[in-house]
Amino acid sequence: MFEFSDEQKMAQTMLRQWCEKELAPQVAKLERGEYPPYELMRKMARTFALDEMVRASFKRLEERAAKGEVAPEREEGESGGFARDPGMSAIVGMELSRHCPGFCLAFGASLGLAGGAIMAKGTLAQKKRWALPILTLEKIGAWGMTEPNAGSDAFGGMRTVARRDGDSYVLHGQKTFITNAPFADTFVVYAKIVEDSATDPRSRPIHTFILEKSDPGLSVSKPMEKMGMHSSPTGEVFLADVRVGRERLLGEKEKDPSREQAREVFHGERTGMAPMCLGIVERCLEDSIKYSKERTTWDKPIAENQLVQEKLARMYMHRENIRNLLFKQLWMVKHGQKQSMAEASACKLYCARATTEVALEAVQIMGGNGYMREYHVEMLMRDAKLLQIGGGTDEIQIVTIARQLLG
Ligand SMILES: Cc1cc2nc3c(=O)[nH]c(=O)nc-3n(C[C@H](O)[C@H](O)[C@H](O)COP(=O)(O)OP(=O)(O)OC[C@H]3O[C@@H](n4cnc5c(N)ncnc54)[C@H](O)[C@@H]3O)c2cc1C
Repeated sequence: MFEFSDEQKMAQTMLRQWCEKELAPQVAKLERGEYPPYELMRKMARTFALDEMVRASFKRLEERAAKGEVAPEREEGESGGFARDPGMSAIVGMELSRHCPGFCLAFGASLGLAGGAIMAKGTLAQKKRWALPILTLEKIGAWGMTEPNAGSDAFGGMRTVARRDGDSYVLHGQKTFITNAPFADTFVVYAKIVEDSATDPRSRPIHTFILEKSDPGLSVSKPMEKMGMHSSPTGEVFLADVRVGRERLLGEKEKDPSREQAREVFHGERTGMAPMCLGIVERCLEDSIKYSKERTTWDKPIAENQLVQEKLARMYMHRENIRNLLFKQLWMVKHGQKQSMAEASACKLYCARATTEVALEAVQIMGGNGYMREYHVEMLMRDAKLLQIGGGTDEIQIVTIARQLLG
């Protein structure tokens, strides 16, 4: 059976204390958009010496590359320190989400999606120039796949193009719903290379580019107004003939199109949601138990009503299932195994649906209070809904599972 190690449990306790002391008091401001989440992320990184660990890991990576022990380019799986311990990454996702899933989303999109994509396929020089500052939180990253007409149909519907012009590429298009876009320094963006006009636009090769906020032609929108995840700024990215050199092509090799690499990121996004779900569900369950013992109707605590008990029991059942799914995932990683796309989709589908159900029921248990901002579950409920949409909708997870079952 998988369990967190003593060291991981200790780190979890420390992180929980940090969240209670530093994150919880800022949630209201973060949610109102008065305070972007990035300074607080940097504070967290400094407190836990995350930046130092990443730098030390990069140094080792460079030394090994210099000795020829690893190929200087494209050594798979080397993450420069970040996510080397998936158990710790899960703990971070759980603990941040107990207090503020939006903060967790902004953190994960920068380090996990943008930083992770560069670490997975970038050359050593690209990792050092663009991933290192993201992983140490000096810079903020955004990962741009979705477009106004390409969400679920991300690859086929993609209209952002990169045209070759001598040694440069000229990117043109638009991305939308991009986490961190309004404040990001570095953008990992997907675009289709235009080979010739005869090629069906749906099947043009897709490549990944690293762009910077200061690149002429790149602009971003203001933060979009959303139902939830208010602590995570979301925006559009406009690319009006952004000219970049070959060093911006991730991996610097055109013969390696990026669909597979993007699928890897989708896979990571799907499996990475389980800790967020667990954090939200645990918090909803704890708050609901406490509330139902304290709140009385007809002179007895509402917890004594079987209808309330049924809700608590279902919340507990979901908590157990999500925990088991997460622990299975961590066990597999520990033993060098990888979940299939269907397994990752089934996990995301179950966890996201269960989390929305649990958060809605937590609101229900608290009645009018549950509908009020003052009660934490009101925010968690709005935030939970995103988990059924982002990283591939529920329906797309179902299609993916069915394809594997029937294929
Ligand atoms: C807060 C937030 C943050 C986000 N962050 C990022 C980010 O950082 N980077 C990024 O690239 N994207 C991001 N996204 C985009 C997200 O991944 C997409 O919104 C999501 O993939 C769905 O795409 P869509 O919105 O275009 O919906 P659509 O694809 O238009 O889908 C609409 C509905 O139709 C259903 N549907 C579509 N096709 C099928 C089908 N074949 N079978 C059955 N049903 C179908 C869908 O399930 C959905 O219910 C973010 C979105 C949000 C809301």
